[in-house]
Amino acid sequence: MSTTVFMVNKNREQNKQSIINYDLIKCTNCYTDIQLYEKSIRKNNYWFHEKCLE
Ligand SMILES: [Zn+2]
Repeated sequence: MSTTVFMVNKNREQNKQSIINYDLIKCTNCYTDIQLYEKSIRKNNYWFHEKCLE
């Protein structure tokens, strides 16, 4: 069974250092960057926009 973790990107703003790393996240479905204001979902070590998994 895979584990899906929901994360609200808005929380990233609370830690400036983590933003640098998260800036490199690309959505596995649409291959575009996942912006800070977009919800992201991590699944099987891949990142997706929330909307891209629906
Ligand atoms: Zn996407």
